[in-house]
Amino acid sequence: MRVQGWNLVFLVALIVYVTIRGVFQRQTKSNEKLIRQNDACERALLVAVGIGSLLLPLLYLFTNWLGFADYRLPAPASLCGTVILAMALWLFWRSHSDLGRNWSVTLEMRKGHQLVTHGVYASIRHPMYAAIWLWDLGQGLLLQNWLAGWTAMVTFALMYFVRTPREERMMIAFFGDQYRDYQRQTGRIFPRLQKS
Ligand code: SAH
Repeated sequence: MRVQGWNLVFLVALIVYVTIRGVFQRQTKSNEKLIRQNDACERALLVAVGIGSLLLPLLYLFTNWLGFADYRLPAPASLCGTVILAMALWLFWRSHSDLGRNWSVTLEMRKGHQLVTHGVYASIRHPMYAAIWLWDLGQGLLLQNWLAGWTAMVTFALMYFVRTPREERMMIAFFGDQYRDYQRQTGRIFPRLQKS
């Protein structure tokens, strides 16, 4: 067990992350679903992301099994990681809060689904995924272990590149031109400099 120093910072942030998820998961539990794309591919990606972002970090923090993949980073790198994690948590919370009951873990459209274009969704279409990219970078800088630090970014990259186009196709099928217009005004994870 090595829950001290930067590892402790990471653990506290992880608890906040999981708590944010839990709170919003409860709020959306009673949603009536109209469309649900929860196929084998989607489930496999979720499991992979769970391994990178929860299982490996917990194994690293509470056992010595991953010790063979340890390395050392200078303190400024860990400090940067802490700032990045704080930004990730803020964006993660804001995007959940702006999506409200329209949020779901898997790709879903609910009865009464509203297209959210305000708050952090006014400039980017995938702020929650942007938050997870930031989180994975912070995790890599705080957990000084190749496996526990960086697997999350690799597994999330897989999920992001498979899921985002599917999600956008689902949104177009549901909202049509309203979503196409929204795409023209916003970037995926970086704000658009020029709007068309
Ligand atoms: N990709 C978004 C949302 C992730 S949660 C982000 O990164 O912030 C995934 C669910 O959010 C999808 O099932 C979809 O139904 C819903 N969703 C995504 N963008 C939305 C939007 N602008 N308005 C309403 N719902 C949205």
